[in-house]
Amino acid sequence: MQSRITTADELGRILTLSRGEASTLRKSLNSLRMAITPYFASLIDPGDPACPIRRQAVPTLKETLIASTDLLDPLHEDVDSPVPGLTHRYPDRCIMLVTDQCGMYCRHCTRRRFAGQTDTPRPRDQIRACVDYIARTPEIRDVLVTGGDPLTLGDEALDEILSSIRAIPTVEIIRIGTRVPAVMPMRVTESLCSVLKRHHPLWVNLQFNHPEELTPEAERACSRLADAGIPLGNQSVLLKGVNDCPYIFRELNTKLLKMRVRPYYIYQCDLSRGIEHFRTSIGKGVEIIEYLRGHTSGLAVPTFVVDAPGGGGKIPVMPNYVISRSDRKTILRNYEGVLCAYTEPDDNRSRCLERCRGICAGEGSGFHGGLQSLFEGNAVSIEPKDLPRERRRQARAAPAEGA
Ligand SMILES: *Cc1c(COP(=O)(O)O)cnc(C)c1O
Ligand code: SF4
Repeated sequence: MQSRITTADELGRILTLSRGEASTLRKSLNSLRMAITPYFASLIDPGDPACPIRRQAVPTLKETLIASTDLLDPLHEDVDSPVPGLTHRYPDRCIMLVTDQCGMYCRHCTRRRFAGQTDTPRPRDQIRACVDYIARTPEIRDVLVTGGDPLTLGDEALDEILSSIRAIPTVEIIRIGTRVPAVMPMRVTESLCSVLKRHHPLWVNLQFNHPEELTPEAERACSRLADAGIPLGNQSVLLKGVNDCPYIFRELNTKLLKMRVRPYYIYQCDLSRGIEHFRTSIGKGVEIIEYLRGHTSGLAVPTFVVDAPGGGGKIPVMPNYVISRSDRKTILRNYEGVLCAYTEPDDNRSRCLERCRGICAGEGSGFHGGLQSLFEGNAVSIEPKDLPRERRRQARAAPAEGA
């Protein structure tokens, strides 16, 4: 951590910076600091300006361009935050930002309004407040510890946080989101793993974006985590000029499986400020899934998600496999383009299974509105809050005063 490359001068010693690059570099650091671990820097091909490792690590002038559609907090993580450092968006799980420090600051970071701001862990009292919120919110059964990067914390600090979450009886699983195995794999020591395995069931999600990140060192880090009994997932970000190619993803994901890492999500790049140059079309993500599903192990096929601007959460976007339907048949296509008919059973209605009585009915039972209220409740339609038609109807019902 202390040896991270943080200035243009240090960077200039290991890479040939193009004319003007060094000065523009100073400018773009205003939005997200630079810190490149010596390890990650060693993976950069110094002679290749298009090196996928370099593009994730080295700031460019493009970061200073703010597109008209860019947002400071595109996912409304602050809006859905009941206490500083915690976002509670989904019914039964939350994320906890325990530090704003990362091993390396990814140039495509979506949380750039937060990551690297102080380059330090969150103060103890704020962590306490987050844990207290989880304790008094029993519907939270899954706590995702993230940041910044939680594995930049020391073993003791991490142990303390995980213990305090584990002490809450309503918390079933803990997840950690980290990029450390990709950018600073030597941090994954035996002693770190022995801390982590004390808090099972614990899941760890990693972020590898390109096969060149899958080095022997990264492999060793993943082995240690897997040997500690921790299921490993990977969350890639779809990045123009880095990995926007189905063949790169096939190589990345099949190699991850060899490292016992299950590809979990591919994220569409968010509308965060200054990362428009990394954004692809959504169609590129669909194409990548199209090239994976059926062509390679299903385990190598993640879910492609768009994190909805405005805080709607992750929305899966996948190729369409249902070609058409009748009341008798559903016509499907496979990955080769073969069409097939699935004949529905004559009696195709499911009836309530007695044993779920009391679970499926009513509040606090996993009923969260939305489409469920159309399927199961009394609602026949769901409308946007601000419909002009609705405003007209209200105006008719309550004529303006003095009219
Ligand atoms: C991504 C995310 C989660 C976890 O989502 P899963 O689909 O369960 O992995 C939880 N809370 C927030 C705010 C998130 O952005
Ligand atoms: S590790 Fe995650 S939070 Fe940190 S800079 Fe990279 S993407 Fe952002």
